[in-house]
Amino acid sequence: MNLYDLLAARFPANRSKPCFLLSDGRAISYGELESGAAHVAGRLSAGGVGPGDRVALQAEKSPESIMVYLGVLKAGAVYLPLNSAYTAAEVDYFLGDAEPKVFITDPPAWVAEARAQPPMAASVPREDGDLASLIYTSGTTGRSKGAMLSHGALAANALALHEAWGFTPDDVLLHALPIFHVHGLFVALHCALLSGCPMVWLPKFADADVLSGLDRATVMMGVPTFYTRLLDNPGFTRAKAEGVRLFVCGSAPLLPSTFAEFEARTGQRILERYGMSEAVIITTNPLDGDRIAGSVGYPLPGVELRIGGGEQTGVIQIRGPSVFSAYWRMPEKTAEEFTADGFFITGDVGRQDADGRVWISGRAKDLIISGGYNVYPKEVELVLDELPGVTESAVIGVPHKDFGEGVVAVVMGKGDEAAMIAEARRQLAAYKAPKRVVFVDELPRNAMGKVQKNLLRQTYATLFDA
Ligand code: AMP
Repeated sequence: MNLYDLLAARFPANRSKPCFLLSDGRAISYGELESGAAHVAGRLSAGGVGPGDRVALQAEKSPESIMVYLGVLKAGAVYLPLNSAYTAAEVDYFLGDAEPKVFITDPPAWVAEARAQPPMAASVPREDGDLASLIYTSGTTGRSKGAMLSHGALAANALALHEAWGFTPDDVLLHALPIFHVHGLFVALHCALLSGCPMVWLPKFADADVLSGLDRATVMMGVPTFYTRLLDNPGFTRAKAEGVRLFVCGSAPLLPSTFAEFEARTGQRILERYGMSEAVIITTNPLDGDRIAGSVGYPLPGVELRIGGGEQTGVIQIRGPSVFSAYWRMPEKTAEEFTADGFFITGDVGRQDADGRVWISGRAKDLIISGGYNVYPKEVELVLDELPGVTESAVIGVPHKDFGEGVVAVVMGKGDEAAMIAEARRQLAAYKAPKRVVFVDELPRNAMGKVQKNLLRQTYATLFDA
C-alpha cells in the first residue's frame, strides 16, 4: 500500500483539527495538509513525474515541506531531502548521483503554484517493496551513500513506533528536529500523523520557543543536545515538564549524567532509543517498564538483532521489515554490508544482555587499536565523564609510532592533564588510559548532535609526532 494512504487513513475524521501549531499562533489543519499534498501530487503528475522518479528538496523547515513530502509519496515518486546546510558543491554531488526530475528550494512558493493545478484524487498505487525515499547518510568516511527506504519499510517502522510509544489522538508532539533526517522526518512526523495529533512545529531548537511549547506538548522527541540545553536553562523546571508524558531521545548517545540530571530535575526518565538512516528505529527502551541509562533498550517488535563475530561484544546485525533495501547505485557496497543470510551489518559495536537489552559502545570504525590491544572509546569516556570538571569527553585514536594508534581524550571542560591520566590508569588497564588529554570549550557536532570524531582525528593527527 502507498505509505501516504496509510497515514491519511489515520488523519482525524474532523479535518479542521490542527496538524501544525506555529509559533506565531497560527495553525494549519489536517485538511490543509491533505489538500496541499493532493495539489503537489497533481502538479508533479502533470509535469510527468511518476513512480520511481526522484524529487529533491533543500529548504528551511516549513509545513509546506511536509506537503511536498506527502505529495511526492501520493504521486508514487521518491522523496529526497537534503540537509539545508549543504553547500552548492555538496548539493551538486547529490543531484548528480540521484538525478532527481525536480529540485525544490522554496516549498511555500512551490506549493502555492501547485494549488493552481487540479489536485490528484486517488494516490498512485505502490507495493511494499517500492522505493519511497532516498536518504543520504552523513558519510563521515568516503562518499555519502543513499539508503533506499521502501513504502513497506517506512510503514512497518511507523506502525511499530506508534504502538511502542503509546501515541493517541490526544497527544501533542513537540517537533523541533530538522526534517532532512530520519529522526524528524520519519520517526517524529509519522508518529504524529498516524495518531492524527497536532505538532508544536518549531523551525529549530530555540530555548524560549521550546519552553513555551512544552506547556502544550505531551511528547517531546530530541537529540541529546536538546536535553543538555534544556537542563542548562533554569526556566526548565519540574512544573514545565509536568504535562509531558514522554521524553524520547536518540540519534547520538545520551550521557548517563544527562539522564540522571533530567530525572532529578523533572522526576521523569528519558526514553532512549537507537536508530539509523538505514533502518529508522532499531531498539527502544520500554514505555512501561524500566528505562535504563546507557542502554538503548530492546529490539522493536519485528526486528531480529544479533551480535556478529562470536564474542559477547561485537558489531550489531539486524534483519526485519524496516531495514533499507540497498544503497542507491552501489551494489558492491550493499553486498558488503549484508551477511549471506540477509542481516544488515550496522557498523555499531554493542552487546545484548541476558534480559535482551542492547548496550552500544560506539561505531566499529571508532575502535582504537593501541599496541595490538582493542580499546573501546566508550569505556574510557564513561570513566572520564565522571571526573570533576568534565562535561563530556570524546576518546579517539591517532597515529603513534610505537603503538600504531595512541589513545587521546578530547575533553569538554577543565582539569589537569597529568592528574586525569593518572586517575584513568587507576580505574582502567594502562593500555586503555589516554596518553594525552586535550581540553576544549566545545566538541564538534553535526546537525543531529553527534560528536564528529573524524574531525577530531584530523585535528589531532600529529599530536604524537613531536
Ligand atoms: P544516522 O544514520 O545519521 O541516523 O546515524 C546513525 C548512527 O547514530 C547509528 O549507527 C549510531 O551510531 C548512532 N546512534 C543513533 N542513536 C543512538 C543512540 N541512542 N545511542 C548511541 N548511538 C546512537
